[in-house]
Formats: sequence, C-alpha cells, structure tokens
Amino acid sequence: MTVSFLDLRAPYVELKDELDSAVARVLESGWFLLGEELSAFEREFAAYTGTQHCVGVGNGLDALRLCLSARGIGPGDEVIVPSNTYIATWLAVSQVGAKLVPVEPNERTYNIDPEKIEAAITSRTRAIIPVHLYGQPAEMAPILTLARQYGLFVLEDAAQAQGARYLGRSVGGLGDAAAWSFYPGKNLGAFGDGGAITTNDAALAGQLRTLRNYGSTVKYVHEVQGGNSRLDELQAAVLRVKLRSLDEWNGRRQRIAQQYCEDLLDLGLELPFVPEGMDPVWHLFVVRSPNRDALQAQLAACGIQTLIHYPTPPHLQGAYRELGWKQGRFPIAERFHEEVLSLPIGPHLGLDQVQAVVDAVSRSSARSARV
Ligand SMILES: *Cc1c(COP(=O)(O)O)cnc(C)c1O
Repeated sequence: MTVSFLDLRAPYVELKDELDSAVARVLESGWFLLGEELSAFEREFAAYTGTQHCVGVGNGLDALRLCLSARGIGPGDEVIVPSNTYIATWLAVSQVGAKLVPVEPNERTYNIDPEKIEAAITSRTRAIIPVHLYGQPAEMAPILTLARQYGLFVLEDAAQAQGARYLGRSVGGLGDAAAWSFYPGKNLGAFGDGGAITTNDAALAGQLRTLRNYGSTVKYVHEVQGGNSRLDELQAAVLRVKLRSLDEWNGRRQRIAQQYCEDLLDLGLELPFVPEGMDPVWHLFVVRSPNRDALQAQLAACGIQTLIHYPTPPHLQGAYRELGWKQGRFPIAERFHEEVLSLPIGPHLGLDQVQAVVDAVSRSSARSARV
C-alpha cells in the first residue's frame, strides 16, 4: 500500500455537489470580488471563531502583514516571533520594516516558550506573534499577561489551527487579532490562495478593510495608500461550504492522532505532547527522531510519504543572510529542524493507511537509538 502525505482532491469528492453549486452560483452571479459570498463568509467565520469581525484577504502572509501595518508597526519597532515557525511569520515583520526578535520554543510543545519572552522585551517592542504551530494552541495566558503588562499588540498566527481551542475558547479570538491562511493544505483550505483576519477591535477591522482594497471604502476615494489583497467570491463560496465540515474533519484528524499516539508508543520516537487545556486540530502530526533522515528513507521505501516541517529554520535561510545569524544562534529551533518528521494525517486518510504507517514505523530500524 502507498500512503500519500495529503489528498487534496478528496475533500472535493466528498462535497462535490455542494461545491459545484457554490462555484456555479458565483459564476452565474457575474460578481467576483467584495460581494455577498465574502460578506457571508466573514460573518460565518467570525461566528465560528467567536469574534466580532472577520476581514477576508488574499493570503495568510498578507493577513499578518496588514495587521502590523494597520497598527503602524514599522522601522524602529521590534516584534517578537518564534524561532521555530514557517518563514511567513517572519516575512510579515521584515516586510513592514520592523526588527525581528526571535524567541526559542518550549522543548515539548514546539511553540514559543512564554518563559523566554520577557527577556526579549525592550523599549522598542511593539508586538508578539505567537504561532499555533502544527495546529496546537500556543500558551496564550502567560503571553497575554506579559502583553498587558508591557502594552504589546498580540497577533495570533492561526494559519495552522482552524478550529483549535485553548481552555475551551477558539483560537483566533484570544489575542488582539489573528491571521488565518486558507492555503489549500490547511485544515480549512480554499481552491487557491486565501486568508483572513479575525478581531474584536472594530477600528482595526475597519482599517484592514481599507488596506486590503487600495485604501478605499468608497469607490475612487483613497484615504490611505492601501494595497490589493482580497479574498475573492469563488474562494469565499468554497470556504463557506468547507467550513460546515471543518469540525467533522478535525474530528477525523483527532482520531488518527490518537491512533498514532497509542500505536507508536514505546517505539523510541518523541511523540506530540498536548498540555492540559489544549484542543489541537492536528494540522500536522510531528514526531522526532535523532535518525530522522534514515527513518524518512525507510518509510519512503515502504511507500509512505512523509514531509519535514521545516528543514531549515528561518534564521538560517538565505532570505535572512544579511542579519548574520549563524548556526548555533537558536539551538532548540535548529535541533527541531534536524529531528522532526511529519507523518501522513488528514480527514481523508483511511484507517488502513494509518495502520500501514504504524507497521512501517514499527519495522523501521531507524526509529530509535542513534545509528
Ligand atoms: C501557511 C502559513 C502562513 C502563510 O499563509 P499563506 O496563505 O501561504 O500566505 C503563515 N504562517 C504559518 C504558520 C503558516 O503555516
């Protein structure tokens, strides 16, 4: 049996009739941007996340960047980010001209370590961007306490965590604002690019609506130099359909994760750790092994496709060469990048496929002890 990492066609097959009619409805309407589908999706996604406002934008990176811009964060300001994240979190900060201040992750959750944040705060710090990495909420309570104490803007990077809950509350309404991505492979994915911001701050939501549309709310009146980053009607219509299945799909991911956690116990791998009060949505199921590359090769030989999230930490990417951060600067993030391996997981992965993954890991000689 071969097991691919993620099947992006299966959600369409499952919801074909509803998705076809949603797409047809938009095509028939002849209205493709900033219309009723977007307004409806914004209402529905705000309700889903328990927030007052949702603003659809072109992608997750823009969602992050526009929030920072709207708050006037730019050159001379510092923004605290996790050293262990997808590069988009960092790019949003560097694109507005602010200074990146990376903070290392907790060794067990992979998320930013709240105990290391205070030491990184200076008089120039304006914001913190906790990332709910792999679909598990960051430890928000201590982060919010620090933010209140120092007057910092908290922007959740919720790109990987649609539906995740923290102490019973949906992520996306915990900080001052949250950025979402609807990249096709995310738990709630469009048929192309898409993104959104959720917030309870009406003034911020208003600014974002202006910034995403040429600095304009009234046609041909431009109060500020905005950009062009809109969630289009086709994607909004598709997302409305898929949103109705999100909880069920996250539930399937949860069952697979539980299966992995039971069956892979005692095999020498570092398994995901879920702290009390967290309800992750298993965007990724990430294990760690000192023999990661050999394990990945052996699984590939058994027909199991795995991925690495991520092979190189942002500070060692060519994109940030000019900052001069060398190997050894963020050692926890660096070690994670050498050891992490993402096993297949998704709402359309069959239990027989999960079993095939478990069998292949069990047979692998690379799973434990250093070779
Ligand atoms: C996917 C992702 C983004 C960016 O989303 P795009 O829609 O691809 O721009 C940002 N942050 C994290 C953590 C992500 O995983």
